[in-house]
Amino acid sequence: AKARGRNGYSFYAPSMTGEGVERLRLETFLRRSIEKDEVFLNYQPQVEIDTGRLVGVEALVRWNHPELGPVPPVRFIPLAEDTGFINQLGKWVLFEACRQMVRWQADGLYVPKIAVNLSAKQFERGSIVNMVSAILRETGLEPQRLQLEVTESVIMNTGDALVFINDLHSIGVGLAIDDFGTGYSSLAYLKQLPVQTLKIDRSFIKDISTDPNDEAIAIAIIQLGKSMNLSVIAEGVETEEQAAFLLRHGCYLAQGYYYSRPVLSGDLLTRWRPKP
Ligand code: C2E
Ligand code: CA
Ligand code: CA
Ligand code: CA
Repeated sequence: AKARGRNGYSFYAPSMTGEGVERLRLETFLRRSIEKDEVFLNYQPQVEIDTGRLVGVEALVRWNHPELGPVPPVRFIPLAEDTGFINQLGKWVLFEACRQMVRWQADGLYVPKIAVNLSAKQFERGSIVNMVSAILRETGLEPQRLQLEVTESVIMNTGDALVFINDLHSIGVGLAIDDFGTGYSSLAYLKQLPVQTLKIDRSFIKDISTDPNDEAIAIAIIQLGKSMNLSVIAEGVETEEQAAFLLRHGCYLAQGYYYSRPVLSGDLLTRWRPKP
């Protein structure tokens, strides 16, 4: 395939499609993103629906490349997972998130909890409990204030996930199942896991008041959470109507654009720090 190089000249790469070249370029950039200070975190508030009280935040990684501009996580997270870079990135995210919690507190904002996403790959290198506890120790964040988010497929597809998750539980770190309802249908694993929170996937919330199937699924998840004594949070809440529906059906926590988009740490402070 012929591709146009950065300086306008063409080169021939027999084994590579244009897509392959693009991917390689992205991969090369991504590998240097941390050292070049191009990655940062956004934080999305999690609120109690009836009071509007801030109960936590979810940390979401952002990558802004000088040439490419902002690259969305859906593009670079899978690449980071494929290349193994996710281990470095994941560690950076975790450290930054924990450190930010302590900073907010010093600045007069107590954020009860922070949720951090974990990829399957981060479980494959052996126990991640050492990494997590080192970061907690270094930053001084209480383990109870950290909640790790994993999807159902991470749990089902990772051989020793159960062992590692139990290790994390034993040091006091919380666990949430992300995108709940979109993964494996087997619920048996829920019983064996020290999980505290289910996050109802955004796809069920989107048409909650118009699509009877989504409505039924959301209600079923809320009920399941209740009967298993888990806390349930809805993600992707964009309207007052959705929030009202959730509250009516016993889901008390929500996250979504209706409350706030993911924001920079300073903006979170401005909006949520109690006024003197
Ligand atoms: P996720 O964990 O399910 O995160 C929620 C995504 O939904 C975020 O997208 C967030 O910005 C978006 N969102 C929140 N509220 C709304 C809403 O009301 N409406 C709509 N349409 N979207 C909403 P984002 O930040 O682009 O992240 C996408 C995915 O990338 C995340 O999905 C997560 O799977 C992954 N990701 C992000 N940060 C990290 C990270 O630090 N580590 C890992 N392993 N994955 C991450
Ligand atoms: Ca998440
Ligand atoms: Ca999610
Ligand atoms: Ca998702």
